[in-house]
Amino acid sequence: MKEPVYAAAREAIDERAHQSLSDLETLAGINSGSRNIAGVTAMSDAAAALFTGLGAECTRETLPQWERVDDDGEAVAEPLGPLVRLRRHVPGAPSVLLVGHTDTVFPADHPFQQVWREGERLRGPGVADLKGGLVVMRDALRALEESELAGRIGWEVLLNPDEEIGSPGSAPALDEAARRHDLGLVFEPSLPDGTLAGARRGSGNWTAVFHGRAAHAGREHHLGRNAVVAAARFIARIDALNGVRDGVTVNPAFVRGGGPTNVVPDRAVVRLNVRVTSTADGDWVAREIEAARREVDAPPGYVVTLHGGFSRPPKPMTPALETLFEAVRRCGEAVGEEVSWQATGGCCDGNNLAAAGLPNVDTLGVVGGGIHSADEYMEIPSLGRRAALVATLLLGLARGDIDWPNVRETGTEEG
Ligand SMILES: [Zn+2]
Repeated sequence: MKEPVYAAAREAIDERAHQSLSDLETLAGINSGSRNIAGVTAMSDAAAALFTGLGAECTRETLPQWERVDDDGEAVAEPLGPLVRLRRHVPGAPSVLLVGHTDTVFPADHPFQQVWREGERLRGPGVADLKGGLVVMRDALRALEESELAGRIGWEVLLNPDEEIGSPGSAPALDEAARRHDLGLVFEPSLPDGTLAGARRGSGNWTAVFHGRAAHAGREHHLGRNAVVAAARFIARIDALNGVRDGVTVNPAFVRGGGPTNVVPDRAVVRLNVRVTSTADGDWVAREIEAARREVDAPPGYVVTLHGGFSRPPKPMTPALETLFEAVRRCGEAVGEEVSWQATGGCCDGNNLAAAGLPNVDTLGVVGGGIHSADEYMEIPSLGRRAALVATLLLGLARGDIDWPNVRETGTEEG
């Protein structure tokens, strides 16, 4: 990868470094927590504007309402922001799916709102997760589209507004797009030392709602059915699953129930998160959670309902993914970056793409840390370095210097 086309792309990225940083500052200045619909809509507009001039067709799609169970155990439906899709279709050519999200974990009234530079770091909400990644994506695609290799490969950018709440509305769009492409790139930040995420565990969330019967604690205690005690039994039963199977962890994380001490409580709510490394383990733990529900539900006077399931299937290290990581490593060598990866317990939309059969590297955004907290930062030089890495990968694929991990069966019927 010594041809002038690669060096020209790197130079163009370097020359625009100031513009890229200021684009990121603009994006990070938009308050866009997943449930702040006005904010995430404004962010979607700004993100779409970022990609103008690249020859892609841009569409905005409305997502269905998001169903969830609130902290009192009541089902509620909430709106989501729009999904942004940019498509550069090249008939007959292989194609890349690039995924990022426009939402952050910070609610509209969160105190962490400022964006500021501190030496080599930019601090602010979403600078690493994932707004920096959007700029990396744009800069890499621009390098491809401005090169002589433009039009050799197709691409599609999908920007979802609900990643930080588990992509409840955008999961079908991710799945559908994943099946139309040959390779996926997701722009989550890498680990703070620049290491990429390799295999990822799967994740599921459940909410259990316990209904008992209220009674006066003094006069009619025997008539009551204590929902808080039922919830406690359930939690103990679920916690006992830890350590039974390697790689499976359960975390009862939220509990609410009861009220005045002279009343037997009739309602309690428990939320839990589960992490697994394989689909078989996921099936096992889902069966165990249902068995625990049945046990606690069995005594007369109790009703226990369960909501939720796996939103992120496990992402194992497959041979196709191994090939893709090796390709990224080679691109790293070409741009003077050491590329390494390691398994992680975290998960992201890369899990969903993998479940749809699309090999993908999911931490090609900026290098940063402190994500999901007011300490979030990104390393300013990583903006250009990651763009150069991804541009090299795209150019390499377009030029045929890099093999596709999962070459699509092309065209006998298309001619
Ligand atoms: Zn993210």
